[in-house]
Amino acid sequence: MAPAAIAALIKAVPIRLTATASIERAISTAGGIAFDELDLHFMLRHLPGVFVAGEMLDWEAPTGGYLLQACFSTGTAAAKGAIEWLEEVRANSSPAVIARRL
Ligand SMILES: Cc1cc2nc3c(=O)[nH]c(=O)nc-3n(C[C@H](O)[C@H](O)[C@H](O)COP(=O)(O)OP(=O)(O)OC[C@H]3O[C@@H](n4cnc5c(N)ncnc54)[C@H](O)[C@@H]3O)c2cc1C
Repeated sequence: MAPAAIAALIKAVPIRLTATASIERAISTAGGIAFDELDLHFMLRHLPGVFVAGEMLDWEAPTGGYLLQACFSTGTAAAKGAIEWLEEVRANSSPAVIARRL
């Protein structure tokens, strides 16, 4: 049988989805922290000093490398944001204030 015909047969196999698998087996999860809750550096607006990335965020991506890439990218952006935030806190606060905020 020709490869194209085999491919057509495979694609024609009916698959009936009845339920999702458990979260332990999930490759990705839906839901998470809304982008509205974050500043431009992935810091929680209502919890300054807490940064989030990857699957913690409410974003859905197709599989095939995009999930990992987005996790690396948002993780890098959040880490840069955390460093900038710490530098800003150190520059503008007394040691006692810094100790309370960290
Ligand atoms: C089987 C499988 C195959 C996949 N294949 C692909 C693929 O081919 N391409 C792709 O792009 N993506 C793929 N993914 C998705 C990708 O791996 C995830 O989107 C990505 O790893 C999520 O990264 P994350 O850092 O957000 O979360 P995670 O990788 O889940 O990291 C969270 C970390 O936090 C730790 N943790 C949890 N709770 C606590 C706590 N209370 N205190 C301290 N630490 C804690 C966990 O132990 C874990 O190490 C796959 C996922 C699975 C499960």
